[in-house]
Amino acid sequence: MQDINLYLSGLLGLLIGSFLNVLILRIPKDESIVFPSSHCTKCGKTLKWWHNIPVLSYIFLRGKCYYCKDKISLQYPIVEIFSSIIFVISYIKTGDLAHGFAVALVFDILLALSIIDFRYKAVPDSLNLTALTISLFATTDIVTSFTNALLFAGGFTLLRFYVSFFAKKEAMGEADIMIAATIGAMLGIKLGIFCIFLSAVIALPVFLIVGKKDIQLPFIPFLALSLMITYFFDFYFIKLISWLYE
Ligand SMILES: [Zn+2]
Repeated sequence: MQDINLYLSGLLGLLIGSFLNVLILRIPKDESIVFPSSHCTKCGKTLKWWHNIPVLSYIFLRGKCYYCKDKISLQYPIVEIFSSIIFVISYIKTGDLAHGFAVALVFDILLALSIIDFRYKAVPDSLNLTALTISLFATTDIVTSFTNALLFAGGFTLLRFYVSFFAKKEAMGEADIMIAATIGAMLGIKLGIFCIFLSAVIALPVFLIVGKKDIQLPFIPFLALSLMITYFFDFYFIKLISWLYE
């Protein structure tokens, strides 16, 4: 393929992925995401620019800090590669650099949220609200996106009241309501409801296996994954939904 935008998207994905690693590391600790510049988490030495090249530096440095030789987490290159793939697919899906960029940004932030939720059992509002805000503009029809986001936020809030009432305890977090709004904005009503259903289908076997071991599993990663799958393969799911309706 000779489309220069495709390579540009992949490159942008790597760079944003690198920044995602900073967000994942610093936001749960309430640290600034700008200062100080990147440093080794073990020895604290400031990294040179060539220690900071996405994926390549990890390979050159053989996964170790240049100074203290402490192991660098494999999470860094994995997040960068994942982000790059998200950017490329988003560009292919939308066929437009700016639109694809906005879509990829939403998915990237949800990826960071998923990792933070998984590792720290926390869902920072700063990231969640940023994803929701960008999702409103990651479309060609902002008014419809906005309407669907409001409908999903409202629907989830009502659902929360019902479930909490019958379960006699607080069910679903506020974070889930924000993600639901993002899902509404990105997918619309029918695909959005399908996406919530799909996330439960994906989560169920995992919860059944891990749940026995008394490990608390976060739900955000399943919502995020399901949103990505539904968005990228919407063509098949639209067919499936219309088949179910008939
Ligand atoms: Zn070090």
